[in-house]
Order: sequence, then C-alpha cells, then structure tokens
Amino acid sequence: MNSQDHHAPGSPQIHEGSETRPDLSSLHVREDVAITGLCGNVHLPTGRTCDVSERHEGSCNFVGPDAAENLAAH
Ligand SMILES: [Zn+2]
Repeated sequence: MNSQDHHAPGSPQIHEGSETRPDLSSLHVREDVAITGLCGNVHLPTGRTCDVSERHEGSCNFVGPDAAENLAAH
C-alpha cells in the first residue's frame, strides 16, 4: 500500500479588509479629523494623528495631540 502522507492543509486564514496595510495595522482613523478631508490616521502607540489629506500618497505624517486638535472638526 503506497500511502502518502495526508496532510490536511488546514483552512488558510483569509484576512478581510485587505486594504489595510500590515505596517499600518496599529492605526485607527480619527473621524473628527477624517471628516475634514484629512487622512486622520492615528498611530495608536504614540497617539499622534496624520495631518495629510485623505488618500494621500506615501506614508503618514503624524502630528502631536495639540496639532491634531486644531485639525479636528469642531
Ligand atoms: Zn495619513
């Protein structure tokens, strides 16, 4: 009997929301900033917010909380 190893491949993990870049996985969008037309990504480890226009090219430019407050819709 020529039995081959029967490796059950296991179901591959499909990650939903593939738009999310792995290097940005620690990001959250600050909606009060995003609503003004800015990127609004928040770098959670630092709490800084991106002040570049939404869908900008390249990487985010994070600014500190004080600057982010000025960006937010009031
Ligand atoms: Zn950004």
